[in-house]
This record gives sequence, C-alpha cells and structure tokens, in this order.
Amino acid sequence: MSKQYDSNNIFAKILRGEIPNKTVLETDHALAFYDIHPQAPVHVLLIPKGPYVDFGHFVAEASPEEQLGFNAALAQLVATLDLPTGFRVIGNAGPDSNQEVPHFHLHLLGGRNLGPLLP
Ligand code: C5P
Repeated sequence: MSKQYDSNNIFAKILRGEIPNKTVLETDHALAFYDIHPQAPVHVLLIPKGPYVDFGHFVAEASPEEQLGFNAALAQLVATLDLPTGFRVIGNAGPDSNQEVPHFHLHLLGGRNLGPLLP
C-alpha cells in the first residue's frame, strides 16, 4: 500500500517556497539546504522534490529518472561541499529512527571528526 504523504510537512513548505532556506544546491529532482540546527560545522539536508515519506517510499515509488537524479544530486553535493577529510550520510526512516520530518531526506555531516556513529 502507498504511504500517506502529508503535504503540510515543513520540507514540502520549503519546496513550495513558503518557508525560507539556505540553499546549497538545487537540481530538477532535488534540493540541498543547511540544517537549521547543525550537528557539525557542515550539516546539509538533501531532499527529493517528489512527495516521498522516507527512503523505502522513495525507492518503491519514485521513477528511475527521479532516483537517478537524486543520486546525481548527492554526488554533486559531495563535490560542492569539498570535505576531503571525510563526511557522513545518514537517513532516518520510521519511528525507531525518530524521523521528525515526514519527507525523505538525507543528512550530510562533516567539517570535524564525527566520532562513532552512535556515541
Ligand atoms: O531526520 P529528521 O527528520 O529527524 O531530521 C529533520 C531535520 O530537519 C533536523 O535536523 C532539523 O534540524 C531539520 N530542520 C530544518 N529546517 C526546518 C525544520 C527542521 O533544517 N525548518
């Protein structure tokens, strides 16, 4: 069964231009912007433009073009941010992950030694 997407979630509002964001990168299929509560010197969120709740929903329902476009945006984002000593990409999905915003997103963190995955 298809997941219910809440079009009033905060990232949907950002995509519609109803809430400002600090954009790092925008493509036909994805938007990357700085997280408002950064957990590292560089903390960027990458979201697809389509209405997907989480990773599982995205891979199940996004078109191949959207999926390739999102992957390409991630590669472009990594190149743009230029983090030669490394970075981390994290995606929350579902209640166990404490996902707050129900629009699929990846966190890209870097700019310091990030320590263990779950300190
Ligand atoms: O993965 P999760 O859903 O928990 O993360 C949501 C992220 O969105 C948080 O890191 C939060 O700081 C960020 N956020 C944001 N701008 C908003 C609302 C939330 O960057 N307006």
